[in-house]
Amino acid sequence: METGQHIDSTSWKTLLTHSIRSARELSLPLNNISDRLKSVTDVYPMQINPYFLKLCNQKGAALKRQVIPDIRELDDTVGWTDPLAEDRDSPVQNLTRRYPDRVLFLVSNVCGVYCRFCTRKRKIGHWRPIKDKTIDCGVRYIREHPEIKDVLLSGGDPLLLDNDRLAWILDKIRNIPHVDIIRLGSRAPGVLPQRITPSLVRMLKKYTPLYLNLHFNHPDEITEEVKLACRRLANAGIPMGSQTVLLRGINDRVDILRRLFRELLKIRIRPYYLLQADLTRGTDHFRTRIETGLEIMKQLRGYISGMAVPHYVIDLPGGGGKVPLIPNHVVSLNPDSIVVKNFQGNFFRYPQTRFSSSGTEKRTVNQ
Ligand SMILES: *Cc1c(COP(=O)(O)O)cnc(C)c1O
Repeated sequence: METGQHIDSTSWKTLLTHSIRSARELSLPLNNISDRLKSVTDVYPMQINPYFLKLCNQKGAALKRQVIPDIRELDDTVGWTDPLAEDRDSPVQNLTRRYPDRVLFLVSNVCGVYCRFCTRKRKIGHWRPIKDKTIDCGVRYIREHPEIKDVLLSGGDPLLLDNDRLAWILDKIRNIPHVDIIRLGSRAPGVLPQRITPSLVRMLKKYTPLYLNLHFNHPDEITEEVKLACRRLANAGIPMGSQTVLLRGINDRVDILRRLFRELLKIRIRPYYLLQADLTRGTDHFRTRIETGLEIMKQLRGYISGMAVPHYVIDLPGGGGKVPLIPNHVVSLNPDSIVVKNFQGNFFRYPQTRFSSSGTEKRTVNQ
């Protein structure tokens, strides 16, 4: 018997149905929300489900700011509508091919909440239901390209599909012999943990190797309900990683991120990426300076378990893909040795081998 069965007492669909979607509804449970926000939600829809709304009220600003519209969303003159050129680099509808061996496939048009900093802000909440034909075209593209080994399903949130619909998609992809792994990008375990029912987990288990790439931004998101959801997934043998968006005024402090990454490891989620906020129109007020991210990374490595340290990356505007940003530990590199600085700022010299990689002895310039 599993403990905490109570989270199933309210179904995730009921919770979603009772989400708040208008600025007017927002002014009832949360104070100080003005009518001006209607002009924001007209452009960029809002959705907050009752589970997350309650958590916002309990925990405060770090969660509220992620989901409550801000008038600054309409002032942004810096951002681009499709910063990652996902629509341009799309050989068939809803599928983006950026790398040789893997694709991003958008299979859902809904989420548990609408993040105000969403990269796909241009689409979210405006999407029509995704047609069977769109799924079939994407699947055909993957089937016709044997170099594709890794299919990343995202959206929207694929876990917001019904079990049957998701299984229908997973079946098609699992039946392509050259696809090694399937990944699901989802924020559902963090913002709508009631979605992680025993029947969903039983279904997902059949598609192994299937990885979940989750999304957590703040330790306040890790509630008892979230812990139970992740325990179910981990106990089913589903490996989980997490992506965190670096957000100004929300999590751009080393103490917050150390706490978040440690808490994630405790619930068997491996921090994977710390994402520099994308250059998305309507989100400029969330972006941090790169120096902030690098300084945080410097204060993670060495201080917390290496398992808890994600890669800090920029997903390059214009579709250049993700590049890691790493605090510089190399002081000098020459044919004899490398000099590096460790996490405490101390210097160390490490001698080079005299052998080249082919095994022959190499003369160094100093000999
Ligand atoms: C992020 C991303 C991937 C996956 O990248 P990994 O570094 O392998 O996690 C694949 N395709 C697109 C378009 C992406 O944005």
